[in-house]
Amino acid sequence: MTDLLRQLEEEVGKCISCGFCESVCPTLPASGYDLWKGARGRVILGKELLNSMNMEGKPNLQLSDSFYSCLDCFACLQVCPAGVNAGVVSHLSRSILAGAKMKGSRNPYASMIVAATMKYMNPLGIHRGLGSWASGLKFSDRSENLLYTGNMYQLMAYTGKMNAMRSLMGDAMGRFMAAMASEIPSLVRISATQYDKDFKAKLDQSLRNIAELLARAGVNFSYMGDEEPYPGTFIYDLGYLEEFREYSAKVYRMLKKTGARRIITVDPHTYDLLRNAYPKYVKGFDLEVVFYTDLLDQSKLHSTGKNVAYHEPCHFVLRTDAYNRPLELLRSASEVKLPARSGKRNRCCGGPDELIFPDLSEKISNDRYAELEAIGADEIVTACPICLSNLSKKGKVSDISGLLLEAMKG
Ligand code: SF4
Ligand code: SF4
Repeated sequence: MTDLLRQLEEEVGKCISCGFCESVCPTLPASGYDLWKGARGRVILGKELLNSMNMEGKPNLQLSDSFYSCLDCFACLQVCPAGVNAGVVSHLSRSILAGAKMKGSRNPYASMIVAATMKYMNPLGIHRGLGSWASGLKFSDRSENLLYTGNMYQLMAYTGKMNAMRSLMGDAMGRFMAAMASEIPSLVRISATQYDKDFKAKLDQSLRNIAELLARAGVNFSYMGDEEPYPGTFIYDLGYLEEFREYSAKVYRMLKKTGARRIITVDPHTYDLLRNAYPKYVKGFDLEVVFYTDLLDQSKLHSTGKNVAYHEPCHFVLRTDAYNRPLELLRSASEVKLPARSGKRNRCCGGPDELIFPDLSEKISNDRYAELEAIGADEIVTACPICLSNLSKKGKVSDISGLLLEAMKG
C-alpha cells in the first residue's frame, strides 16, 4: 500500500457518518444538494476510491468531480467530532487519481493548467508584463528580503474573460480544448491576450500599495519583475505531486539565486504553500517565509474612521496555525465588522473552484457577497487576490492594502 493510500485509509477510517460537516460545506448547497459534492459525500467516495484501488489496483474514475470540486477550505474539519478533514480526503484522492496516470483519471482542465505551468513557470504561459505594476518603483538589486508576488494578483485579471470564453464554447468543447492544451501548452497562451483592463489596474494598485507599505515600514527588498516564477499552487492543489516536487525545487533554486533569505509573500495561498508544502517537498528548504503584514508597525496606523466588513481568507483562518495579523492591523485602521460565518466558522468565497467548476464558484461567491453586503458597512475588504477577484463579480470589494496605506499616511 502506498503512502497516499495509507493516509487516505487513516482519514476516512475516522468518519462516523454523522453529517455535521455537510452543514458548513459551501459546495453542497451551491451544487443543488448533490450529496457527492458535499463533505460527507467526499469521505464516502474516498472509501470507495480506496476499495477500488485495493480490489482492482486502479481508481474508479466516476468519482473525480466530487474531489476536484472541493475548495480545500477546511470548514468541515472545524465541526467534525471525529477530526476528519474532507478537504484532505479530497486532496489525497486527487493525488491518487493524478498519480494513476490512466486515460480519464486526470481532469482535462487540471492537466492543462499543470502542463502550461511546468513548461512556462506560469499557468497562462505569460511572463512579459507581469512586473509592469512596479513600473517606476525602485527596488534593491540584492537584498536579504525578496518581495514575492507569486504572480497571484496579476493572474486574477485573466480569470473573468477566460471563463466567459469557456461558457461561449460550451462544456464539451471547453473540455476538448483543455485536453488539447494539456498536450500543446502553447495553446494556453492565447488566453494571455484576454484580460480585464480595469480590474488589472485595481490589482496593480494593490501591489503598489503593498510595496509602499513595506517601504514606509523601512523594509529594504528586491523584486524579480517579469522573471518571477509562479509558486505552483495549482499543481499542488490538483494533486500532481510528482510534478510539484520537480517544480517546487526549480522555484526554490530561482528564489535562492536572488540572494534572499526571507521571502515576503502577499497572498494567503503562496504564504501557506511556501510555509507548509515547500519544506516537505524541497530538500534543504531554508527560506524564512512571512506575509507582508508581519513587517508593518501597528503603532503607526491611524484610524481612517471607516467601518468595514471583512472577509477572512480560508488559508489564514481555517488552518491549524491561524494567521490573524491582517485582521489585527485592520482593527487599528477601521471599525471592523465580521459576518456570522467568520473565524473558525469562516465561509469560503468559492475562488478555488473558479477554473474547473465556474458555476459552483459563482453561486458560492454570490452567497458570500450577500452576507458581507448585509452588514451594511462602508466597504467590503479582503486580504487575498483570489477572494478579491471572486467576490468582486457581484459588487465592489477592496484589497486591505489600500486601507492600511491610508491609515499609515494618517
Ligand atoms: S462530520 Fe466528520 S464524522 Fe461526521 S460525516 Fe463529516 S467527516 Fe464524517
Ligand atoms: S474542504 Fe471545504 S469544500 Fe472541501 S469538503 Fe471541506 S468544507 Fe467542503
